[in-house]
Amino acid sequence: MAQPILVNVTEEIVRGLVNFLLRGTEYQTFCQCNICAMDITAIALNALPTRYVTTSHWRDRVFQELNTPENLEEINKQIIRAIHIVARNPRHDKRVE
Ligand SMILES: [Zn+2]
Repeated sequence: MAQPILVNVTEEIVRGLVNFLLRGTEYQTFCQCNICAMDITAIALNALPTRYVTTSHWRDRVFQELNTPENLEEINKQIIRAIHIVARNPRHDKRVE
């Protein structure tokens, strides 16, 4: 038996899309530091259903299930919402927290 994994497939997809969106031209005026990128990822993930899996086969199946235009639209919507929340109140220049 292969070693079990514990992966939230939603998280994998959101991490990839956050990096992709922040590096794109549309969001080039937004901060791309690690703190902001992580906060965006966390806020978006809290608004999306988790999809934990424990095998790579199961992971691939769920990935394909999530990788549809409708699902990606919802995931993108939550990420864009999170980008604007973080842009309004970024933590990167706060000393305490
Ligand atoms: Zn920042």
